[in-house]
Amino acid sequence: MEPRLRLFFALWPDSATSAALHARARALHTECGGRAMRRDTIHLTLAFLGDTPAREVQRLRALAAQVDGESFALALDHVGSWKRNRVLWTGPSIVPPALAALAQDLEARLRAAGFALEERAFSPHVTLVRNARAAPAEAPPAPLRWSVASFVLVASERSAAGAHYRVIGRWPLQQRV
Ligand code: ATP
Ligand code: MG
Repeated sequence: MEPRLRLFFALWPDSATSAALHARARALHTECGGRAMRRDTIHLTLAFLGDTPAREVQRLRALAAQVDGESFALALDHVGSWKRNRVLWTGPSIVPPALAALAQDLEARLRAAGFALEERAFSPHVTLVRNARAAPAEAPPAPLRWSVASFVLVASERSAAGAHYRVIGRWPLQQRV
C-alpha cells in the first residue's frame, strides 16, 4: 500500500516563544484543568491537508518555495476557549495583514494544485489546553510577541504517547525593508 502522511502547514515558535507559550499553557491548565499541550507540540496551523500520499511531499515543497510571504510580528494578546471541543487557545486580537496574506497565498496555491482543503475561514490560534473543565478568566493575558520569520510543513504522527509533530520542511519569509 502507498505510504501516507497526515500533513499541515504551520508557524512553529522559536524556543523562547515556545517556552513562553508553554508557560501560558501551564497557567491555563492550573486555572481550568484539562491537558496542557507539550512544549514541543505548540504551533499555529496555517493550512491543514490531512491524510496525503507521501509522494506529494515533493510537490508541496515546490509549492511552498513559491510562496513569497513577508515576516511579521504576532501579538498574542488574547486567550479564548471553544466550548464545543473544550480547547483553550491564544491568538492575536488583530490578525497582521502579512499573516492573512500568507495563509491566503498558501491556500490559493494548494487549491490550484488540486489539494482539498476545508472551506472554513482561517482563524489563527495556538491550542494550549485540551479537555478544559472551565473557561479561562476574561482578563487579557500579559502580551507575548512572536517574531515570525518562516513557515513549516509538518507531519502529524500518532503513537501510544500521543501526537508527535515532525517538521519536514521550512521556508523563510522575507524581511520587510
Ligand atoms: P489529535 O487529533 O490526535 O488530538 P491534533 O489535533 O493536535 O491531535 P492533528 O489532528 O494531526 O493533530 O492536527 C494537526 C493540526 O491541524 C492541529 O493544529 C489541528 O488543530 C489542525 N487541524 C486538524 N484538523 C483540521 C481541519 N480539519 N481543519 C483545520 N485545521 C485542522
Ligand atoms: Mg486533531
